[in-house]
Amino acid sequence: MQEMIKQRHYDVVVVGGGAAGVGAAIAASKNGAQTLLVESASYVGGELLSGLPIDGCLNARGEWIVGGVAKELFDGIKDFGGFVEPVFDWRLMWGVCLEPDVMKLVVVKTLARYKVELLLYTLAESIVSDGKRVTGVIVVNKGGKSLITADWIIDCTGDGSMAIMAGADYEKGGPNGTFQPVTWVFRMGNLNVKGYLEFIRDNPDQFLLGESPVAKKSKAECAMEIYKTGYPFAGLSAESSLLRSAIDTGEMYPCTAVYVVPNSMVRGEVSINSTRIADIDATDPEVLSRSMFDLTDQVEKCVRFLNKKVPGFEKAQLVSVAPRLGIRETNRVMGEYVLTEQDVLNGRKFGDGIAKGGHHVDIHGSGTYQKRTPVKEGNSYDIPYGCLVPRNLKNVWVAGRCFSSSREANGSARNMGQCLSTGEAAGTAAGLCVEHVYSDSRNVPIEKLRSTLKAQGAILDGTH
Ligand SMILES: Cc1cc2nc3c(=O)[nH]c(=O)nc-3n(C[C@H](O)[C@H](O)[C@H](O)COP(=O)(O)OP(=O)(O)OC[C@H]3O[C@@H](n4cnc5c(N)ncnc54)[C@H](O)[C@@H]3O)c2cc1C
Repeated sequence: MQEMIKQRHYDVVVVGGGAAGVGAAIAASKNGAQTLLVESASYVGGELLSGLPIDGCLNARGEWIVGGVAKELFDGIKDFGGFVEPVFDWRLMWGVCLEPDVMKLVVVKTLARYKVELLLYTLAESIVSDGKRVTGVIVVNKGGKSLITADWIIDCTGDGSMAIMAGADYEKGGPNGTFQPVTWVFRMGNLNVKGYLEFIRDNPDQFLLGESPVAKKSKAECAMEIYKTGYPFAGLSAESSLLRSAIDTGEMYPCTAVYVVPNSMVRGEVSINSTRIADIDATDPEVLSRSMFDLTDQVEKCVRFLNKKVPGFEKAQLVSVAPRLGIRETNRVMGEYVLTEQDVLNGRKFGDGIAKGGHHVDIHGSGTYQKRTPVKEGNSYDIPYGCLVPRNLKNVWVAGRCFSSSREANGSARNMGQCLSTGEAAGTAAGLCVEHVYSDSRNVPIEKLRSTLKAQGAILDGTH
């Protein structure tokens, strides 16, 4: 094994450069902490770059519930001249649809603006700890092994790897070894948008529509609203005759839907969220790697099905596949508070709320299964600070999909809106800890954290 040769120190090390890590690193740096963002991949942004809509930024009523870093990124796309638009799917939710390649550049530009140091191609392999404090992270890359010491660590690995190595309690997936599916999202261009919108308008029963308690319209009326809005944001349902019969004949693989998400209206580009392999443990690299073979076949099947059977897609072509397989579910770290399904569904508010969520409880399963339960009256709920603070650890936060939550609550708050905002909250808390030399993340005065977040544009009050 190679000798450990280098050692560096930072105020804050953020491990994981997905949506949560981007939010955390920007916020920590913005708040004056010398911050390093470590990412094992060759790029930053995770699923922000996949073409998926950024969900959870608005509740089902259409009220914005996430601002701050998310809004800065959206503004950056606008400034660049890229497509970015909040769109209601007339099913359950609003998603901020955008051009992923522009987002890719904007993420990097925003990290640069706040002087975040970036270390790509680098795996955080293990931690060094001193009882309940993590004092450093050992990283490995082509340059060898290094020890990066830090006063504060933000675990945005999606899997809670740093917190778990430090001894945090965690839960994994669902009952009996079940996991939400892994999916390879892909993008198609040259869609005849008008043709597809007309197909939606004239065939509402083929689509997932009208499930929101606030939509209050028939499927036909919802389909007409999509047609009038002009954004092809609708999911072809496996309960419909078209997709069902394709699944029955083997022309398509079993899935809940073929979700279509607009990415560029000028180029007729949409992302497709449909492929799936459920119940595999995505923390096992061998299993995850093998899943790529099946998912590749599924991408091909789906493209052929759309070209052959779905009006508007006749001449659409594959433009790209997402940079990596999308992982919905692995580990959830247990913190000082564990967000519950009832908190989510009842739109519960907390005095120490540091972010908001509003997405339905959304749990995909094997075959055509998907649980979708809306939040009461289209309201939003608060995510309390304690959900970011792992029990028994003094200087570590978790943010993003591995934050402290039940499986069902996670099914709502794993969205990128909440990954960005919980990341921002953790990064801001870290900045305050550096500034005031606190010894424990629990010492952060909540009102100070909330007021700092609000001054940064976070939305913590004033919504249903
Ligand atoms: C198929 C699919 C569809 C989805 N649909 C939507 C949608 O439409 N809208 C929406 O808002 N959300 C959606 N989600 C949910 C959302 O995309 C994810 O929950 C979210 O992106 C997770 O962000 P994260 O930053 O917490 O974790 P991740 O994106 O998983 O980021 C973790 C990062 O940490 C890095 N990492 C991990 N371990 C280490 C280590 N030891 N060292 C260095 N780096 C490490 C990884 O490489 C990764 O980049 C979807 C998810 C999937 C998979």
